[in-house]
Amino acid sequence: MNAERPLLLVIEDERQMLRFLRASLCAHGYRLCEAETAADGLAQARSRAPDVILLDLMLPDGDGIDVARKLRDGCRTPIVVLSARGQEEDKIRALDAGADDYLTKPFSVGELLARIRVALRHAAQVASGNPQLEFTSGDLRVDLAARRVFARGQEVHLTPTEYRLLVTLVEHAGHVVTHRQLLSEAWGISHAGRAHYVRVYMGQLRAKIEADPARPRLLLNEPGVGYRLAAW
Ligand code: CA
Repeated sequence: MNAERPLLLVIEDERQMLRFLRASLCAHGYRLCEAETAADGLAQARSRAPDVILLDLMLPDGDGIDVARKLRDGCRTPIVVLSARGQEEDKIRALDAGADDYLTKPFSVGELLARIRVALRHAAQVASGNPQLEFTSGDLRVDLAARRVFARGQEVHLTPTEYRLLVTLVEHAGHVVTHRQLLSEAWGISHAGRAHYVRVYMGQLRAKIEADPARPRLLLNEPGVGYRLAAW
């Protein structure tokens, strides 16, 4: 990450959205560079080396999903997709193509800043090269070195599959993880018709970890997309 104020690249062609992003991000100390086309966005991603990329999915000269795929080729800069309501399929495709997270328009300044903070923290963790040894969020503690899990101070015994699922979410803490990513990273299998595996195991994990499994505060559902482990 840049030692000075973080630099954000916004790839977005809607003027009103650009004005909103410019006003809210500059007011919170971020530097901004802007691209209104996919081609300019890709060029600036290479030339400016931003800390986070905010990517609209519908650009005048192309599809944000292709941009995400091309950006991922050789670059680990976090990508947060800006999508419209009703673009669920595109959102999932963008995440599977390598985007890290998404915001559904219209979103608040608070949501925007929270997503950017998570993206910056995650990038810094990856860049440090130090494997994470422990993860805590709320009253959940995962000792990744010893492979032990504690909820509300008590040790929780997970099956190997439940543990792999939890660790996959820990590795993306604060970000949404699609059903496809969960299946491939926790089970090593492809998507086709297996989404129910995730639902079943998530239910088991919630029963073991959440104080009130019916009202989860840690293992959050992102309807139609996947799950997010809340990073408190
Ligand atoms: Ca657009």
